[in-house]
Amino acid sequence: MSCACPLCQKTDLTPVKLSYDLPALGCMSCGGVLLSLILYSDWRERHPNELPPTTRSEGSNLQIEDTKNALLCPKCRGLMTKYRATAEARNVLDLCAHCDEVWFDRGEWSQVEDLALSGQLSKVFSDRWQNDLRKADVAKRAEQRYRDQLGDVFEEMSALRDRLKDHPKAKEILAYLYTSQTMRR
Ligand SMILES: [Zn+2]
Ligand SMILES: [Zn+2]
Repeated sequence: MSCACPLCQKTDLTPVKLSYDLPALGCMSCGGVLLSLILYSDWRERHPNELPPTTRSEGSNLQIEDTKNALLCPKCRGLMTKYRATAEARNVLDLCAHCDEVWFDRGEWSQVEDLALSGQLSKVFSDRWQNDLRKADVAKRAEQRYRDQLGDVFEEMSALRDRLKDHPKAKEILAYLYTSQTMRR
């Protein structure tokens, strides 16, 4: 059964091997890769321990291309859903939840290789993973707001915050600082 590249449409995908012989389908024209999460699970069973990164991670210097448009699954023609893999990642992966197939644009595989080698790739598409990413975003934005508000003293105050975090008298210290400020008014 031939299956066309979801990006170039015309080129048929052909069998390729990703890190440690993980079987996938690749597009010779755009360099994208389609990976079945079912084959990924099988492969994990054969490599249950964490694997060292391959030389492929050189690919992280490679220009990463990211499709903004929704893609159609090359197997069922259904709409694929976009997922972010990590808090740092600017690009997104496309998943067909019906077929459990993931599309990586050119260069995207090397970005998630670490997750794949540690066995976490399937978790990326879970609600829990995605919720954690959103929480991390909110925390990052809050941190940035304080950084802007506090300006020069931010680093100093953030060091103080870290010191207070596990301090046995944290509450008393905060109360002391707070009341000494309010009393002055
Ligand atoms: Zn292609
Ligand atoms: Zn599909």
